[in-house]
Amino acid sequence: MPELPEVETIKESLQGIVGLTIENIDIIRPDYIRLWENQPADYMGQQISAITRRGKYLIFETTGQLYLTAHLGMSGRIYFEPRGKEREKHVHVVLELSNEQELWFQDARRFGGLWLVKHLHHMFRTMGVEPLSRSFNARHLEHLLRNRRVAIKTLLLNQRVISGIGNIYADEALYKAGIRPDRPAGSLQPVEVQRLCKAIKQVLRSGIEQRGTSLRDYQDGFKQKGSFQDHLKVYGHQDQPCPRCQQPLVRQVINGRSSHFCPSCQK
Ligand SMILES: [Zn+2]
Repeated sequence: MPELPEVETIKESLQGIVGLTIENIDIIRPDYIRLWENQPADYMGQQISAITRRGKYLIFETTGQLYLTAHLGMSGRIYFEPRGKEREKHVHVVLELSNEQELWFQDARRFGGLWLVKHLHHMFRTMGVEPLSRSFNARHLEHLLRNRRVAIKTLLLNQRVISGIGNIYADEALYKAGIRPDRPAGSLQPVEVQRLCKAIKQVLRSGIEQRGTSLRDYQDGFKQKGSFQDHLKVYGHQDQPCPRCQQPLVRQVINGRSSHFCPSCQK
């Protein structure tokens, strides 16, 4: 599933469409649109003024202050194709742009979607802090974890607490910080919270530098894959030796999500 670094990479790869006009929105599967605060016709003739990211969502903004937000779910892809090309399978929505290009929204499993949004603040009102923002620091994280009995891994995945972290980067951050994923969140000592805050920022930044993790479907707007999968230390590495202590890594399901960790390095 695309997480913050993948969505950030897609966002960067799409910046070339800022300034272009939306000539048409072709909605092939209406049920892929999750919210209809605006009608597709409202966007026609609008110029795209910005593409930003919030958590795992991409936000397209027009000069008329209409928003189109996208979530990639498990297998979603957003990429450019020349106008007139025969549509591929599972392409549910197409933006026809003024430079003879099209932006295709493809999603085989359809866990993602598009929102035609009027009130952006309303859509994101319950979303947690951005982990790469300045306001996310050890003090803030300590406050978020205080008295929480839920496993730290589960809390890191809760988008209402911290936005953008998924299974891969949660496992990698906890390994880097030396913390077991099943520890109750509130049991972390101040020094551990500091290590975890730093580790979260480091793994997310490395993920962005490597242009994301391409284990299955993920690619950017130009169909380029990322390379962070070559730098993963624990995710998907069960039964392989820990890079630090050489003991075998384990995989354990925690609250329904598979977690990978080193039982000897992570306390
Ligand atoms: Zn180890």
